[in-house]
Amino acid sequence: GRASPPLAALSQVLRLERSRRTGIVFPLQKLERCLAPGTDTAQFRLFQPGLAALQRAEALFRSDRGHPIDYVSSAVRMDHAPPPALPEVCFIGRSNVGKSSLIRALFSLAPEVEVRVSKTPGHTKKMNFFKVGKYFTLVDMPGYGYRAPQDFVEMVEAYLQERRNLKRTFLLVDGVVGLQKTDNIAVEMLEEFGIPYVMVLTKIDRASRGVLLKNVLEIQEFVKENTQGCFPQLFLVSSVEFSGVHLLRCFVAHATGNLPTIQAS
Ligand code: GDP
Repeated sequence: GRASPPLAALSQVLRLERSRRTGIVFPLQKLERCLAPGTDTAQFRLFQPGLAALQRAEALFRSDRGHPIDYVSSAVRMDHAPPPALPEVCFIGRSNVGKSSLIRALFSLAPEVEVRVSKTPGHTKKMNFFKVGKYFTLVDMPGYGYRAPQDFVEMVEAYLQERRNLKRTFLLVDGVVGLQKTDNIAVEMLEEFGIPYVMVLTKIDRASRGVLLKNVLEIQEFVKENTQGCFPQLFLVSSVEFSGVHLLRCFVAHATGNLPTIQAS
């Protein structure tokens, strides 16, 4: 298989000097240092795992003979979805938001996993199911566009409403352009069905610090004022630099009940 890219594993990140390490593992905390003193940053640290939890999560995302990580199947309809046997998370977002890149980054320690992209316009978009050993499943949902096609809305709506084992939805938002009108399609669906979700800001390596801060603060305000089901802490990621990827693996492990509450190590 392919070699893992640099910084895909925590062991590589731990060799960096302290400030770069914080930037990779806790990108939001790195950003926090640029805020005016007195700004309320309580939501920046709600989920702040220690090294033991990060390592435990990484082990889940690292495949081996006794712990296979596989693409399972694709479905366009709920009756084609695999049985809801394991806790599940799903990833949703606009086309081009960086969803496939992020899922590839999450699974970079299981290089045999193929994250398929079906971008051909007019081609039916599918839900792709991945199985992580006997621990959880991860679903790559079709991306939505400026005009969300009806079949997309129907497919995603049915999934969100019916999937009993769905533990958390990860809503991806472009870190460069921030929350867009089309993202409201997803927000409204999640809010209407009362589905717990988290917002993930992608491509943070491409945003200047100022733009990133503006987008983070705007989205936090939006979440506070307009949502019930959204976790107040944003997750920032770069699939190129691996920032936030280790923390996101840890949150997925937590959300699927695979992170025993670990006390300070
Ligand atoms: P999807 O349509 O949501 O699956 O988006 P892709 O993962 O295919 O990404 C869309 C484009 O954004 C591609 O050109 C990627 O190379 C680029 N991209 C995705 N993630 C990142 C990132 O973290 N950093 C940078 N710089 N580019 C990214």
